[in-house]
Amino acid sequence: METKNKSLLIIPVTCHMCGAEHIPHLSLQRRTMEAQNNIFGVPQYIKALPGKDFCDYNLIRVTICPKCFFSSAYIDDFISESNLKKEHPEPFDKAPILRHWLEGAAKRREKMESFLENLNGEERSAKQALASYTLAICSCNEVGKLQEARNEKSRDYSGMLRSVNYMLTKAELLMAHKKSQDAKKYAKAALEKLKEIFPYLKRESSIKAGYLIGMLGLYFDSTKTVGQSLNFLREYEKNNKVRAGTDEHKALVSSLKKMTEAYQHREEYSQSQLNGFNIR
Ligand SMILES: [Zn+2]
Repeated sequence: METKNKSLLIIPVTCHMCGAEHIPHLSLQRRTMEAQNNIFGVPQYIKALPGKDFCDYNLIRVTICPKCFFSSAYIDDFISESNLKKEHPEPFDKAPILRHWLEGAAKRREKMESFLENLNGEERSAKQALASYTLAICSCNEVGKLQEARNEKSRDYSGMLRSVNYMLTKAELLMAHKKSQDAKKYAKAALEKLKEIFPYLKRESSIKAGYLIGMLGLYFDSTKTVGQSLNFLREYEKNNKVRAGTDEHKALVSSLKKMTEAYQHREEYSQSQLNGFNIR
């Protein structure tokens, strides 16, 4: 499958939930775009690198199953068809929740009514993109429930960080479109979700969440939240055995450094000083 935008690549995938095949997942090729991250780490695509086509990948990141409307920005939430011979995770159990999910397809379809024709096209309006993230958040929650139904103890809460990522991307999209009140609402929802799942997170996921909680705490001017985040990151090494050179160690060192610096310059992170979610 060819794309019009040469910075994109189509990877055909199969839906884990309902088995629909040949869904085009659009992947952004490396070294095509100049991007900068906002204070929550959400990329903003500024311009194309020389000779490349521009694409605001945040708009089209979410792949939507045209049959059951399961949606995700992460290719490993689907079965990659080029990898069919390789091992892939077990398809979800045909549990009552799955039946419930399929029954809900009509409702989710309604959200997409305005762009059913070109569900996974190379271009989306901001409105369509926002709807795609709503579906992705809903899908993420449903997968969480499925895991819970299978075996509560082995539920992987780190998957819920994806839901947080969707909320923060939604917030960024809204901010870019001058809907700052709605944008703040999603940033707040992301903070609430992080606080809810934080006690269940382990290792790198907990570092990532702890850091984000601190950044959101700065944004919402919550000294208590920022303090908890900094304490967690400072005490982490004492409370967990972290081997030097591992990804976990790198994540800890960089998160603690960034959080400490942000705290030292906290006045720059207050809502009145920021430009959207960016330092001026
Ligand atoms: Zn599906």
